Amino acid sequence: MFSASELLELRAQFPILESTVHGKTLVYLDNAASTHKPDRVLESMNAYYRTTHSNVHRGVHQLSQKATEAFEQAREEVRLHLNASDASEIIFTKGCTDAINTVASGYAELLRAGDEVLVSTLEHHSNIVPWQMACRRSGAVLRVIPINDSGELLWDVALLSPRTRLVAVNHISNALGTINPIEQIVRDCHAQHTAVLVDGAQSGPHLSIDVQALDVDFYTLSGHKIYGPTGIGVLYGKRALLDALPPYQGGGDMIKTVRFEETTYADPPFKFEAGTPNMAGAIGLAEALRFVRDVGLKRIQEHETALLTQASAELAGMSELRLVGTAQRKASVLSFLIEGAHPYDIGVLLDHMGIAVRTGHHCTQPLMERLGIPGTARASFALYNTPVEVEAFVQAVRKATSMLYEPTQA
Ligand code: PMP
Repeated sequence: MFSASELLELRAQFPILESTVHGKTLVYLDNAASTHKPDRVLESMNAYYRTTHSNVHRGVHQLSQKATEAFEQAREEVRLHLNASDASEIIFTKGCTDAINTVASGYAELLRAGDEVLVSTLEHHSNIVPWQMACRRSGAVLRVIPINDSGELLWDVALLSPRTRLVAVNHISNALGTINPIEQIVRDCHAQHTAVLVDGAQSGPHLSIDVQALDVDFYTLSGHKIYGPTGIGVLYGKRALLDALPPYQGGGDMIKTVRFEETTYADPPFKFEAGTPNMAGAIGLAEALRFVRDVGLKRIQEHETALLTQASAELAGMSELRLVGTAQRKASVLSFLIEGAHPYDIGVLLDHMGIAVRTGHHCTQPLMERLGIPGTARASFALYNTPVEVEAFVQAVRKATSMLYEPTQA
């Protein structure tokens, strides 16, 4: 937990939080979509461009070497953050979507007709559509892990068949906040020689991740959700699997030799980093990871859990409201509906009261279909949110409810 003065100090590092919207002080509760960036992240990128920038990897001149060093140092920072055993297992991508597509496009070549890929009902479209594409290209079959009405995975080892080559699940659901039993899934999958990809877009900002302890085969991170810049993300992969995975894109930097007859590829991570990489993004991400470690992921999680508990307890007492996603293990996402109201109208009303929440299907249309709803309004908390902001959110929801609530006819 943070003391009130610590929280003030933390907030002061995010000047955008002082913005006003519609004449009200902004209460930013759309952190699952994207978090804001502390000054030190912005400054790290500014300093890189001011003092260090040049193209990386092939230059003999000093500035190019400095830029290469800074970029590779950022990779080392990510390795440390995830406790990967080697920096060659850390690939910089554009984001989580790009990281998942990198693996899925390689698997499209590795899968055989009749093989199976298993995703879950809770997945973001980013962890569904790339696998559908891979299955279509290879003749493999996409299967789905079901959920219960609380939004918890109904994981069962019987879902695996001898043909299941890979299971792709998120660590934390962006729509409901469910924390999934990754350890169990990995154990069961590995007992059957099935690989596991974990989409860590939502877990990165809330949990301390140790890829070796989790024993996951692939893990992805999104920079902009973890107080880092947009346009950068991470794919972690076990080295042996990365060696066997065909490259996603061709181009400069990912090759050993190019002849018109045949090209040989560089070793990981470069095999998966065609073209000039996002150096400033990687450096900003590394600074963001240092930032969350300095603040302390355990304390961040405790703080956000307290905010979630406060908001859930207050809203649970309102009979006009339905909380969507009531898993036992949840991270800082609160999805809800006001009876008779469309989520979009809830979002617009809250916005006019200064509260930024996200509304809609949250890129999880199959999940919304399973729950029989068009979407939700979703508040999601970050380390800089305060109990006072949660109270403002609750009051705004009460006001919106008094304006929008329409009891459904029996
Ligand atoms: N997976 C999940 C669970 C997400 O919440 C998101 C972003 N909403 C993504 C994947 C996509 O991440 P990115 O924006 O980095 O491509």
